[in-house]
Amino acid sequence: MCELRNCPICNSLFTFQGASTVCQGCFENEQSNFNRVKDYINDHPGCDFVELTEATGVKEETIFRYIREGRLIYRKM
Ligand SMILES: [Zn+2]
Repeated sequence: MCELRNCPICNSLFTFQGASTVCQGCFENEQSNFNRVKDYINDHPGCDFVELTEATGVKEETIFRYIREGRLIYRKM
């Protein structure tokens, strides 16, 4: 059985398979954004939050969400 859903990010229809709540394209995009943020923090420990958003091009709210979800540990030194 497949269920069609609207992707909350790009609004396109996709087949929901129980794992990701966004479409495949946005999921991959998310992954690469997340990795970029994570790598930047690894390479620049204690970096400024503004610097982080500018260097990665990832929105503040997206990074906050990663932190909230416990996927990312960000500590300002
Ligand atoms: Zn999407």
